[in-house]
Amino acid sequence: MKPFDYTRTTRASEAVRLVAARPQGAFVAGGTELLNLVKDQVVAPDLVVDISRLPLSGVELRDGTLRVGALARMREVADHADVRTAFPVLAQALLASASPQIRNRATIGGNLMQRTRCWYYRDAGSPCNKRAPGSGCPALTGQNRRHAIHGGSGHCIAVHPSDLAVALTALRATVIVLGPQGTRAVPLEDFYLLPGTTPHKETALRHGELITEVTVPASRPARHSRYLKLRDRATFEFAVVSVAAALTMDDGEVSDARLAFGGIAPRPWRSAEAEEALRGRPLTGATIESAARALLSGARPRRHNAFKAELVRRALADVLTGLGGGR
Ligand SMILES: Cc1cc2nc3c(=O)[nH]c(=O)nc-3n(C[C@H](O)[C@H](O)[C@H](O)COP(=O)(O)OP(=O)(O)OC[C@H]3O[C@@H](n4cnc5c(N)ncnc54)[C@H](O)[C@@H]3O)c2cc1C
Ligand code: SF4
Repeated sequence: MKPFDYTRTTRASEAVRLVAARPQGAFVAGGTELLNLVKDQVVAPDLVVDISRLPLSGVELRDGTLRVGALARMREVADHADVRTAFPVLAQALLASASPQIRNRATIGGNLMQRTRCWYYRDAGSPCNKRAPGSGCPALTGQNRRHAIHGGSGHCIAVHPSDLAVALTALRATVIVLGPQGTRAVPLEDFYLLPGTTPHKETALRHGELITEVTVPASRPARHSRYLKLRDRATFEFAVVSVAAALTMDDGEVSDARLAFGGIAPRPWRSAEAEEALRGRPLTGATIESAARALLSGARPRRHNAFKAELVRRALADVLTGLGGGR
């Protein structure tokens, strides 16, 4: 492990200044992700700024907006009464993530910034365009069972790992960030980048920018929402595929549908076409099937992961059928 400097601050602007000043500077919050990557020599910061004492915790629903501090713990958000009632998909996605021990420690900002679980990326001895730009992507021709069927490129086909990010994408959340030039708001849909020719650039964050808060608008569909995660074992495991859905039914027809998918793309995957296929229609088997067809149009399965198309189709049908009771 490469040695690094360590410091702690209680001021967000100071944390930003310190990290921005060092090309390899990094924030650490709960440490459940960063420290593993450092120990495995996947990343090598020269300075680690501990942000765990910044005043950025707290969860509050006020004036129709849920505000979640970047340092709120996963468990705290999953257990929050307003989150459970007004954003069930969010609570369900968090409870389906990691383990109770990790959820007690890990933060919302850290969860959104976690790196892919592609095993080539996590093995410092393997080539990987994301970890070492230009070194190659062994997943393209190698073992790619867990990789993307949508949104990948000839340079990277890793999938995004955060369950929380999938739920927040369906809920049309916004990430608030503080940087050397001040504060800005980034819709979650624009926050994660597709790999293209630069898979090492994963988010819209500039170096030194700190996530301070996530905001989520309350809405009728958010209240009537669900998360389904399919994985290789029942707990402590990342999604093979997942579906976040928020739905409003009026007079027996879908009046609003918001969908996002995990495990199938390098970022939480929103399909406006699948949402459109549901809108204004009764939630029959045929409607659900046309939404699945829209979702999968343009998908590009690889040698070992073609099964994901059928799996996500069935997961979508399950979630929508479960939500179809009306409201
Ligand atoms: C065994 C295991 C199983 C897991 N299973 C799942 C799972 O099923 N689903 C899932 O979604 N996750 C899962 N995780 C990931 C886990 O949720 C993350 O490790 C955790 O959320 C990271 O939060 P943290 O506060 O510990 O982040 P840290 O380790 O402190 O930081 C992680 C990264 O985020 C950056 N960062 C942290 N806070 C901020 C901020 N406010 N602004 C900008 N950058 C920031 C850090 O610089 C670092 O790069 C699993 C992890 C493990 C170890
Ligand atoms: S899929 Fe992406 S993360 Fe995995 S080896 Fe290829 S470039 Fe690296």
